[in-house]
Amino acid sequence: MPNSGERAAGKSIIIIGAGIAGLSAGCYGRMNGYRTQIFERHNIPGGVCTAWQRKGYTIDGCIHWLVGSSPGSNFHRLWQEVGAVQGRPMIDLEEYLRVESEDGQTLILYANIDRLEQHLLELAPEDARTIKAFTRAVRRFTRFDLPVDKAPELYGLTDRMRQGVIMLPFLRPFLKWSKLSVRDFAERFRNPFLREALAAPVVDAPEFPMIAFMMTLAWLHNKTGGYPLGGSLPFARAIEQRYLDLGGAIQYSARVSKILVENDRAVGVKLTDGTEHRGDVVISAADGHTTIFDMLDGRYVDEKIKGYYENLTLFPPLLLVALGIANSFEDVPSTVSGISFSLASPVVIDGKERKRLAVKVYNFDPSLAPPGKTVVIVGLNSDYDRWKQLREDPDRYRAEKEKTADQVIVALEQRFPGISSQVEMRDVATPVTWERYTGNWRGSYEGWFPTAKTMRMRMSKTLPGLDSFYMAGQWVEPGGGLPPAVMSGRHSIQILCKKDKKRFVTSTP
Ligand SMILES: Cc1cc2nc3c(=O)[nH]c(=O)nc-3n(C[C@H](O)[C@H](O)[C@H](O)COP(=O)(O)OP(=O)(O)OC[C@H]3O[C@@H](n4cnc5c(N)ncnc54)[C@H](O)[C@@H]3O)c2cc1C
Repeated sequence: MPNSGERAAGKSIIIIGAGIAGLSAGCYGRMNGYRTQIFERHNIPGGVCTAWQRKGYTIDGCIHWLVGSSPGSNFHRLWQEVGAVQGRPMIDLEEYLRVESEDGQTLILYANIDRLEQHLLELAPEDARTIKAFTRAVRRFTRFDLPVDKAPELYGLTDRMRQGVIMLPFLRPFLKWSKLSVRDFAERFRNPFLREALAAPVVDAPEFPMIAFMMTLAWLHNKTGGYPLGGSLPFARAIEQRYLDLGGAIQYSARVSKILVENDRAVGVKLTDGTEHRGDVVISAADGHTTIFDMLDGRYVDEKIKGYYENLTLFPPLLLVALGIANSFEDVPSTVSGISFSLASPVVIDGKERKRLAVKVYNFDPSLAPPGKTVVIVGLNSDYDRWKQLREDPDRYRAEKEKTADQVIVALEQRFPGISSQVEMRDVATPVTWERYTGNWRGSYEGWFPTAKTMRMRMSKTLPGLDSFYMAGQWVEPGGGLPPAVMSGRHSIQILCKKDKKRFVTSTP
């Protein structure tokens, strides 16, 4: 591992996974004088924060919005420390989401809360009370910022008191909204269109918490949930570069099969090629299930941890159908999360009848397509077991992917007449694709699904009985996402520094 004489004296850390959490742990490890070596199974950094090229088009598999894109959020500092945002243009779109009905009505979830309130009142004056209570709370949340600096595991009495003071003005709205799901909220509306339109994006995820939805709107309103131009892979590459500049080492195409343990202490890793690598500390920023039950053979778990993997809901596995279209789609509104439109004639896609489809038109990032052309992506909640079974027969798997792309194009014709003749590229990523490239359990691309219960949960970054070992990333941060990934990498090093009686330091390039 590259290091100066002074750094060579530091402890060595082995990090499993070069996703955002692993790269973050690597950056902060180097900032604090540890020798760090990342082992990544893929040949590129980023994990699920990724993109891929097909026929001159770039298919972005991740970032819609980045909390901390501007200084309006505490997360911005973290992104600066890991070199992710410097010199990177961010786009703040005016619309979060559009929901279109069959009879021509459209709900536009504007990023600006005043505009959103006015629009909702125009659509449903009879629901003025419900609308105003909602927008009042979102306005309040625009003044709230998550404390991210210090690992909660290290909180002392003063930190708790300080956090209590920060939370105080938000306690009432948090209590009021934290138990409510978006579907429950939608049901409060008398207006039939809004009742249906608000629930449409969460139809497969009825427990999605209202608080998460409201915080999203608050961040977008504050213009600190922007889209980094160029998308996910350049973003991940920038953090990789920061890690390398800090003197970190990284080995790609290096899949860890076992974590080596001696006397209940993690001492290194064994790769699938049989080589063993020793370190003083091991941080796994890879999939949680594989880490706990395969790499460590399930030897360091208690009932609580087992319970997570037996009972908690996972993010629904995702099927992404990406198309390269010879059309600039200048007249189509740009949205953070896409356009959900109803299908006058329902279409069977991926073995299920679909009455609606959500499409994202990447007409706001010209770097993803040749001039005058656009990437269009349809994301569908899918069935992991179905695709896992199909994958056993490569010909059937390929044929099913082709069929799925055909079905999606047929459905898109209803919203964009003529689109089928403009398709230049088609690519289908299934839940098994996610599993194959990133190792995420059952293709759950974002770990634990956020619910009222999991959002309040704090998962331990250590395992019972195992010393010199930490976990980072979306499997210890329910709800997942890029900000928790970078934060948990940072926190794991903070906890390690505390254990080593070192002052945790950071730097910004
Ligand atoms: C379609 C999509 C849209 C998203 N949109 C957003 C968004 O708009 N905003 C947002 O904040 N978040 C978004 N996310 C979520 C976000 O991308 C993830 O939560 C985050 O990137 C997870 O990072 P991680 O480092 O915890 O995990 P991962 O990215 O899964 O990283 C784990 C790494 O470990 C490696 N690995 C696994 N097993 C091994 C092994 N045995 N040996 C070596 N290496 C191994 C993997 O290859 C991977 O690189 C989205 C995700 C997806 C898929």
